[in-house]
Amino acid sequence: MEPFRLVIDGKKVPTKQCFEVLNPATEKPAGLAPLATAQQLDDAVAAAKRAYKSWRDEPERKRKAACMKIAEKLELHAEELAQLLTAEQGKPLNGLGSRWEIGGAVAWTQYTANLSLPMKVLQDNNEGRVELHRKPIGVVGSITPWNFPVLIAIWHIIPAIMAGNTVVSKPSPFTPLTTLRVVELMNEVLPKGVVNCVAGDDDLGPQLTGHKDIGKIVFTGSCGTGKRIMANAADSMKRLTLELGGNDAGIVLPDVNPKEIAEGLFWGAFINNGQTCAALKRLYVHDDVYEEVCEELVKVARKMPVGVGTDEDAVLGPVQNRKQLDIVQDLVADGSKKGRVLLGGANDETKKAKGYFHPITLIADLENGDRLVDEEQFGPVLPIVRYRNVEDAIKMANNNPNGLGGSVWSRNITEAKRIASKMECGSVWINKHGMIQPNAPFGGVKQSGVGVEFGEEGLMENTDIQVIFS
Ligand code: NAD
Repeated sequence: MEPFRLVIDGKKVPTKQCFEVLNPATEKPAGLAPLATAQQLDDAVAAAKRAYKSWRDEPERKRKAACMKIAEKLELHAEELAQLLTAEQGKPLNGLGSRWEIGGAVAWTQYTANLSLPMKVLQDNNEGRVELHRKPIGVVGSITPWNFPVLIAIWHIIPAIMAGNTVVSKPSPFTPLTTLRVVELMNEVLPKGVVNCVAGDDDLGPQLTGHKDIGKIVFTGSCGTGKRIMANAADSMKRLTLELGGNDAGIVLPDVNPKEIAEGLFWGAFINNGQTCAALKRLYVHDDVYEEVCEELVKVARKMPVGVGTDEDAVLGPVQNRKQLDIVQDLVADGSKKGRVLLGGANDETKKAKGYFHPITLIADLENGDRLVDEEQFGPVLPIVRYRNVEDAIKMANNNPNGLGGSVWSRNITEAKRIASKMECGSVWINKHGMIQPNAPFGGVKQSGVGVEFGEEGLMENTDIQVIFS
């Protein structure tokens, strides 16, 4: 098996050591990843620093043209990238899987390439002229997780380079292969050093976040790692965008038609097998419709084909790695003791012998205080909680340190919006969940993060402000 290589200063760089990346559906190697040394990470930062000197001064139209060419490259290689992504991440090719993720990466690149941050005149009168300029920061370090490795790398890299920064990308050790390939493709159209990629183990992360020549870290991953990054970045006062964990609540009001909303609820919770930061992770349902919503959810869930990602019929695959499967199984075992298992569960017989598969699991009659409700499961499991008074439901939804997304399900949009405004989270969807889009800023409140991505506000996070008074 030919090992993948790092991408540094426009070149594909081999490493002395490599590590196996496992296919989570088969537990067999999906590929060999390069294990970067501390010196190679330094080389990547030095290359990005050199490239920054000319990239920052390129006119915006040239950066836009380069990003549009990146989109073309991704589109041209879409099937190759989707197959590789399925092999290392486990998600199916179809449904909201690898082909959808690569399509999203193309769309996000194109949208972001068309954003701009023109100079703003704040004042122009007898007392003087005041201009607000947005300037790039320098070298941006991007650290990504394993759930949407390509899409998240694009969310980090494209706005950074559009704003005139250069990048060192560090993918998750669980899913480095597709990101390395994507950065190789980017380097076919970008000047050398503008985007570099170093794969390796978790130790590279702190090296990047403490590096003196890095001006900003954009990180997507767990809250615990986010806190460590914040501490490590403090000494050099790095700019930070942190997209962290979520435990999104959905509140179902008594006026819904359970049949109509069941499929939306299902995909809100189970997109990417529940391994999605802004997935529906706790469902609060009014007593009047509680049993019917549970029944309809079971009906929808039962017909979803789960399988190896290369099976063209599968819409859900395995959990991405053994460690995450252990977390999910532990929470399900606890939830099964406290609640009523409607589907799946700890002892489900559909569990496959090979691969990190976990059955789609629905557990009703749980409450706040139960681990499966309070903790982020990040897997194919949904806890359901009964409520009688909507103000109590809002309190329960807000009684959590996370605040990424939330949703309200009702036919009364005015009432749904009233409830949405009381929810402590960065995004609230009505009659849907988790539908992020490139023109709407996305980020968490409370411990779900700092800053936003997407749209003009996301682009601004890749800049510092300079005000010129004349
Ligand atoms: P993780 O925090 O374990 O790892 C994420 C990345 O951080 C990996 O590349 C890892 O190598 C690196 N890393 C590990 N230790 C580090 C350190 N000390 N310093 C710097 N980098 C370090 O997260 P994960 O398990 O890969 O992803 C799952 C988590 O990510 C979930 O909590 C999920 O909710 C969250 N997530 C959030 C969003 C969002 O947009 N808010 C999106 C996707 C995932």
